[in-house]
Amino acid sequence: MPDLADILVQRHDTIRTALERMNHSGRTILLLVDGRGCLQRTVTDGDLRRFLLSNQNLTEVLNHDLGGLGSSTPKTVRSGTAGEAVLELMNRHGIDQVPVLDAEGRPTNVHLRRDLDQPILLSTPHLAEHERDFVEQAFRTNWIAPIGPNVDAFESELASKVGMGHAAALSSGTAAIHLGLHLLGVEPGDRVFCSSFTFVATANPIRYLGAEPVFIDSEPETWNMSPAALSRALAAADAEGRLPKVVVPVGLYGQSPDMEPIIDLCHRYDVPILEDAAESLGATYRGRSAGTFGRLGIYSFNGNKIITTSGGGMLVGDDPELIERARFLATQSRESAGHYEHRETGFNYRMSNILAGIGRGQLEVLDERVRQRRAVFQRYVEALDGLKGLDWMPEPAAFHSTRWLTAMTIDPSRFGGTAEDLIGRLAEARIEARRVWKPMHRQPLFDGAAYWPHHDGQSVSDQLFEIGVCLPSGSNLDLAQQGRVVERILEGAPPAEKTWSSSTLSLG
Ligand SMILES: *Cc1c(COP(=O)(O)O)cnc(C)c1O
Repeated sequence: MPDLADILVQRHDTIRTALERMNHSGRTILLLVDGRGCLQRTVTDGDLRRFLLSNQNLTEVLNHDLGGLGSSTPKTVRSGTAGEAVLELMNRHGIDQVPVLDAEGRPTNVHLRRDLDQPILLSTPHLAEHERDFVEQAFRTNWIAPIGPNVDAFESELASKVGMGHAAALSSGTAAIHLGLHLLGVEPGDRVFCSSFTFVATANPIRYLGAEPVFIDSEPETWNMSPAALSRALAAADAEGRLPKVVVPVGLYGQSPDMEPIIDLCHRYDVPILEDAAESLGATYRGRSAGTFGRLGIYSFNGNKIITTSGGGMLVGDDPELIERARFLATQSRESAGHYEHRETGFNYRMSNILAGIGRGQLEVLDERVRQRRAVFQRYVEALDGLKGLDWMPEPAAFHSTRWLTAMTIDPSRFGGTAEDLIGRLAEARIEARRVWKPMHRQPLFDGAAYWPHHDGQSVSDQLFEIGVCLPSGSNLDLAQQGRVVERILEGAPPAEKTWSSSTLSLG
């Protein structure tokens, strides 16, 4: 957007000046302010045209001051108004431009319909070439069932992609966690250790099974499970004689946890790992795929994940019997018999053959999606790196993150605003940014659950929750959209640190 100063005029300015301003700024609206900078009225190209047409002598009229336009009450919004509400005002009054005013009535910005029409979302589905082919094949062969050739193929293709022996395609990532915990023997009254810094879907299945979650903090290096906290938690549980049945480390925002020390600890106490890699499919740790370090691992294909089947999940493992049993439990534990025979409680958790077709098409472009997400991250870094008080989620050596979401932290004293302020400012422009996950030990749902911080007196997930922000990161986010996000962040940033120029993004 041009500098606001380019479209400010005063009452004593002439019609000629106003036309020149419009011409120069490329805008069809000017803001007429008084001596204190407060908005008096807007001057649109239509206002000027009508004024010119109402006069006979063109030279004279060009030198007339803007006072001749008379007064009008402009449609405005206060700064802080959400983009949806601004768009609603535009629609109600049939206008395309709305000035933004501060508390004193001074303009701070002008909203354009063109910018607000298309919201920029955090992460949206990004389809590729072949999903339709696989789905059509399912239609042609009438395999619209929760089993079929696409399911089998998706399972084996995903297993070989991540380098795990076997995979079971399920209706969601949450279902995969539920089945995985069940398969590892979690029963009512058992303890399950689980990352606190995660989405609630990691922890809910612990409760489905009547077990008790114990939450483990993150470490600053990866934002994922802290081996230091896990070590203290396991030692204490061992001393009590109540070790957990399972440990569930989560890989957030496209990055694996530091699995080596976590595996060593779990090995020492002989506790199996179920790895929640819902957000880290496509990432590697020491050259191996995230999600393949535990007895079992899970992925999610929900609509916002790096690849999607609109909804779905996968349970992976090297033990063929365990995965075969997952498939059995997921189809109502139906015994093989001519009739319907059941010996144990089952679930309806299988993925449909249609959705598995979408999954096969998506899996073909996983590597490309990883490259695209990392490129989005890289462009944010190039555009914003000089800003005071802004830091990125770290990616230590030996880790390869997918940067599923670009996550950063805001130090309010240096950035000049909180994470919440920044998210609100982006929402004014219909840009969706989000706080990072609120830790599970802080959720009312898990009131009273045990929690092990990184160090005594240092809770990393609590700190991250206060200062963490996720930016729009879709693999289909285009340069112009990302430019809008960057521009909006820079508008509120401390001016001395600005290093960005509009050329940075167009070169990307
Ligand atoms: C998305 C997600 C899940 C759940 O996956 P669904 O397919 O939505 O059930 C679990 N854990 C984490 C960390 C997630 O982000």
